[in-house]
Amino acid sequence: MRGEKLTGNFVRVSCRDCGNEQIIFERACTKISCNICGATLVQPAGGKAKLVSAAIVESLE
Ligand SMILES: [Zn+2]
Repeated sequence: MRGEKLTGNFVRVSCRDCGNEQIIFERACTKISCNICGATLVQPAGGKAKLVSAAIVESLE
């Protein structure tokens, strides 16, 4: 470790397709799918995950 911050936030997102809400890690390094309809919510983008079919509802600590 060289002092980098390894912290990240969790965010509550809402699926644009079905409205399901899920809590995801904002810096997800894998694709995350909706638990209900299977739509791709976010995909990794080398930092903050890119929202695909999701809208952020709120940020959590
Ligand atoms: Zn969905």
